[in-house]
Amino acid sequence: MAKYVYNFTEGNRNLKDLLGGKGANLAEMVNLGLPVPHGFTITTDACRHYLAEGSVPAGLDQEVAGHLKALESEMGRKLGQADDPLLVSVRSGAKFSMPGMMETVLNIGLNDESVHGLAKQSGGNERFAWDSYRRLIQMFGKTVLGIDGDLFEQALDELKGRRQDTDLSAPELQQLVETYKGVVREQTGKDFPSDPREQMRLAVMAVFDSWNAPRAILYRRQERIPADLGTAVNIMAMVFGNYGNDSGTGVAFTRDPGSGRQGIYGDYLQNAQGEDVVAGIRNTIPLEDLEHLDKPSYDQLVGIMETLENHYRDLCDIEFTIEHGKLWMLQTRVGKRTAAAAFCIATQLVDQGLITMDEAVTRVTGDQLANLMFPRFDANAEKKKIAKGMNASPGAAVGKAVFSSERAVELSSQGEEVILVRRETNPDDLAGMIAAKGILTSRGGKTSHAAVVARGMGKTCVCGAEELEVLTAEHRFIAPGDVVVSEGDVISIDGTTGEIFLGEVPVVDSAVVEYFEGAQEPVDGFDGAQELEDDLVRAVDRIMRHADQARRLGVRANADTPDDAARARRFGGQGIGLCRTEHMFLGERRQLVEDLVLATTDGARQAALDALEPLQKADFIGIFQAMEGDPVTIRLIDPPLHEFLPDIVELSIKAATGQATDKDRKLLTAVKRLDEQNPMLGLRGVRLGLVIPGLFAMQVRAIAQAAAEVPGARPEIMIPLVAAVQELESVREEAVKILADAGVSALIGTMIEVPRAALTAAQIAESAEFFSFGTNDLTQMAWGFSRDDVESAFFSRYLDLGIFGVSPFETIDREGVGRLMRIAVEEGRSARPDLHLGICGEHGGDPDSVHFCHDIGLDYVSCSPFRIPVARLEAGRAALTNTTSDTR
Ligand code: PEP
Ligand code: MG
Repeated sequence: MAKYVYNFTEGNRNLKDLLGGKGANLAEMVNLGLPVPHGFTITTDACRHYLAEGSVPAGLDQEVAGHLKALESEMGRKLGQADDPLLVSVRSGAKFSMPGMMETVLNIGLNDESVHGLAKQSGGNERFAWDSYRRLIQMFGKTVLGIDGDLFEQALDELKGRRQDTDLSAPELQQLVETYKGVVREQTGKDFPSDPREQMRLAVMAVFDSWNAPRAILYRRQERIPADLGTAVNIMAMVFGNYGNDSGTGVAFTRDPGSGRQGIYGDYLQNAQGEDVVAGIRNTIPLEDLEHLDKPSYDQLVGIMETLENHYRDLCDIEFTIEHGKLWMLQTRVGKRTAAAAFCIATQLVDQGLITMDEAVTRVTGDQLANLMFPRFDANAEKKKIAKGMNASPGAAVGKAVFSSERAVELSSQGEEVILVRRETNPDDLAGMIAAKGILTSRGGKTSHAAVVARGMGKTCVCGAEELEVLTAEHRFIAPGDVVVSEGDVISIDGTTGEIFLGEVPVVDSAVVEYFEGAQEPVDGFDGAQELEDDLVRAVDRIMRHADQARRLGVRANADTPDDAARARRFGGQGIGLCRTEHMFLGERRQLVEDLVLATTDGARQAALDALEPLQKADFIGIFQAMEGDPVTIRLIDPPLHEFLPDIVELSIKAATGQATDKDRKLLTAVKRLDEQNPMLGLRGVRLGLVIPGLFAMQVRAIAQAAAEVPGARPEIMIPLVAAVQELESVREEAVKILADAGVSALIGTMIEVPRAALTAAQIAESAEFFSFGTNDLTQMAWGFSRDDVESAFFSRYLDLGIFGVSPFETIDREGVGRLMRIAVEEGRSARPDLHLGICGEHGGDPDSVHFCHDIGLDYVSCSPFRIPVARLEAGRAALTNTTSDTR
């Protein structure tokens, strides 16, 4: 029979698929002999069954009952036992951490009888017992019964007045319990369920259901977490941080998740339960202050942190509770970190002998590197600093202040850049956090919801800016010195320093970009912020060098100008994989193209081509010079023709209103003749070359002459939009002659961007020395999606429906487009074993797609110059990880 429940003693860290991250790591801590409360995990299999069938799998209830019985006998008390109750927590835990997205219910097992038993058990601490009971009703009410959490918060606020929650007396908390029970009755028409086992069963199902809560779906989409994993559920004997001042709860990191520096980082809250820390209800104290409150627990915790870091060989984050001076570990996992910290930590761990350089490369991602290439505030700009908070997630964000998630979404959908300002965020703010450029809160530490979620998203965040008085309902905040910032006022926030500025602060390139540009060398011997920056540059340098040694894929650039070509080289590009020549026909040269299209005689056409040829030659000379002997793949002209022609509507109006010149009238006739319903599938690419005699020949001659003049130039000539070998053959024949006449040698190859080309690759390879996958068009034509329209038109619906998890224009659709690519690779190489293979569609710089290109055996990827470092890193990671899909 299927096994759906595992005791914590039965699992280990490798069972994340089945036990979720939390369950697997709890088991691992038990195996390490660390103090973990007893408990068990219901598997993700059970959740998937429940979500698919709408009911728990057969046998699950009995299995849970068996494990609960064992837990009861270990603890020597029964769940909800009236005179001496066992209480449990029910917590979600998916394979990938989704902070705050799913549900947790604490203190299960309390009711009107067992609350007295709990008071007795705690040595007569009535206050603690009633506080735990009101917490149960509040969490259960919101999570399991779906009651608006504000109703409970309001009741609590009314009772508290200006006091802290810890100031409430036992009778007041008892009164609050009655109020809460009333809320439940009013909202659900039923009494709060008093049967402990019923409480537990309902809580488990609520955790399962929370997998499909809108905010969890949104988070998964954002983080590219598959929708079908489901969550595990952890049931654990409660330990209490709210017993009094010798108790408390906290969160810790084994290193600074912001910079990677080693030390004691975290927050602690006396006399509180876990959710209070993350919710930012009271302000926490820095973890190092725990040393003065409870030295034995502090020392034990520091020892455990070291054990965990050495065991996981990585930064770990930890949730713990101290109950009457006894330390309990409630969770650990390899912790989220900023992009800068990821690079620094990876190389620090190498220096500590914990991991190899190979592993270090796999510990960072291209997305993190891209994040580090974001601009930062100009240090020399004039700034009006109005406050400082905690530097929770780095970057420089500028935007209009908004005070609600809804408003953030609304304004950003109108193209505005916004900063979401809240006292604290909660999971319901997720949509606004995604929409905003940056997030600013006045409460909560580096482990608050805002900080954790922003870091996960790579979004700039300043949190806990206590000097700010955030008046959400009035849509404004007040900074020291009575500076009032109202909705719509522009502010700038620096997630690296925590500073908040009034108005727009100009931004400059990042240190990492400067390093790639060669303007910043990795150096030793600075201090302060500069030192952090240098640590980072040194770490990036080491990792990039190692990735370069490891990778099999070459990395080229898509570049059309000498400037782009030069940047591509500085960023480590090993040639140009796509030089789009149509970009050389814009601007002043448009006139010549018009002449070419309008030509009605051979002579007129030749005159236009003759005028274009020296211009093209000069373009190519510039690029060959910039590339200093690296290969340059020049693609012959490919645009839909209408892009070069005047607007048909404008010309028609001129003609109708009698303002058209002679030339306008001729143009109009030509434009009408060439007008297409579907230009992207019309007269472009090789088709244009075959229809306009001399056009491709002119380009090939310009390439040949330019190459002859630049010593070491290595041109490769690429024919676009080929669907049949015959198209390629006829262009090739002419090109070969021209090159021979000029005494220049160049590879001649083709784009593979029409599905038919992929399917007939063996024939095409007979005439091509290289293939370059044009995955923009290949995706367009494989899916039948107009590449210019569909993303904004309906992709969000497709993403909602789960038809794909990410746009196929962003990441190669492995099943469809990828299959066409595999066929082309296999067939092409079977016909021509030394066929050189690359990709030059946008996917060439996308991390997941780079891994795919590695897997199918391409020789290089080509992408825009700014993405070259990302592609180099991911190519290295692909060679070192053997993973095919998980680039996280
Ligand atoms: C492609 O189609 O992927 C490609 C690189 O060509 P373009 O984007 O210029 O059509
Ligand atoms: Mg194309």
